[in-house]
Amino acid sequence: MVCYNQITMNKDRLKRHVKIVCTLGPASNTPEIIENMLISGMDVARLNLSYGTLEEHRHTVAMVRSVSKKLDLATAILLDCPGRKRRTGDTKAVFADHLQFAKDNQIDYIALSFITSTQQVEEVKALAREMNINIPIIAKIEKGEALAVSSSIIDISDGVMVARGDLGLQISIEKVPLAQKKIIHEANQRGKPVITATEMLESMVKSPTPTRAEATDVANAVLDGTDAVMLSEETSIGQYPIQAIQMMVKIILEAETVLPHDKAFNEPQDDFLSEVDDATARASCQIACQIQAKAIIALTAGGTTALRVAKHRPGQPILAVTLNETIMRQLNLVWGVYPLIKSSPTTLEAWLEVASETAREAGTAQTGDVIVVTAGLPLGVPGSTNMVKVHRV
Ligand code: PGA
Ligand code: MN
Repeated sequence: MVCYNQITMNKDRLKRHVKIVCTLGPASNTPEIIENMLISGMDVARLNLSYGTLEEHRHTVAMVRSVSKKLDLATAILLDCPGRKRRTGDTKAVFADHLQFAKDNQIDYIALSFITSTQQVEEVKALAREMNINIPIIAKIEKGEALAVSSSIIDISDGVMVARGDLGLQISIEKVPLAQKKIIHEANQRGKPVITATEMLESMVKSPTPTRAEATDVANAVLDGTDAVMLSEETSIGQYPIQAIQMMVKIILEAETVLPHDKAFNEPQDDFLSEVDDATARASCQIACQIQAKAIIALTAGGTTALRVAKHRPGQPILAVTLNETIMRQLNLVWGVYPLIKSSPTTLEAWLEVASETAREAGTAQTGDVIVVTAGLPLGVPGSTNMVKVHRV
């Protein structure tokens, strides 16, 4: 049964580009529910430290990891830290406790609440460095001050969240829709993952179906270019967590049918970064689009190659082969990327063989089909994407 689910689940997953982040809570704290959520489409589990004890969160991490392993999925875990949310402002000690928790539990992303400046992000990064912690940081934009400098905040962060719940209280509510578009665009330009969050299917906390306006909201976030959409109360305390995920999958898939997959041909030159990896990734997407390749296979040591390819939003699934489990899980948040682990090829020939095998195993290509393979040479050096090879499986 699980096997059957896994097969259909993976096929569905390869069709979907936009990822789903689900907040876990009392409505989703058994292995059975978590398994069902994963089968339904959860890509990233979010733990909200504003609620519950660290001991409870530790237990949740263990459940997510074990079910995810059983289903052979690359589920990422995002730890959402309240930071300066509390009126008094968190003390450094409390924050250090949260970072330590993240380190001890091999958390994949840390989200920072209520930041107002780049300096605050730098402070957290400095504290993390002191504690020998290297976990990517997602800056939550939920204050007017942060919105005003969002592009600089994105520059120094690893990703960003459009935290519409608090943002809508901090700025006038009619400004939220354009703020969302601005933040998503800035993140897209920089090739950094962006999560659109809060009240997406809010009425599903109490009802098995969403409102038309909510369905439209999810679809619009997809069309705006978000990497991921997030469920909060719908999955943490709602009565229909599974239905909310299934509904999100359906809305995403439908909205994605009109996404233009020739973006790599139409990007304004102003968005071009004069970097080898950006140019190489764009070329791989252009080639894949022109020849209708079955998949783009990215060999990625540190994840950069996969992020660069995703930036150009190709129609093909981006199968990201990495050696490192943490990188694999982190890539699960990124638009269109399907991360997996393979043993390290040392030669180009061996790597092309791994790429063919990966595309065949994923069911995206059969013998004779064409795939586009991209990597950095020498193999295994992060941030050096410089090779595109059109390869027949
Ligand atoms: P929260 O952040 O759920 O931690 O408040 C998201 C938001 O404010 O939208
Ligand atoms: Mn918030």
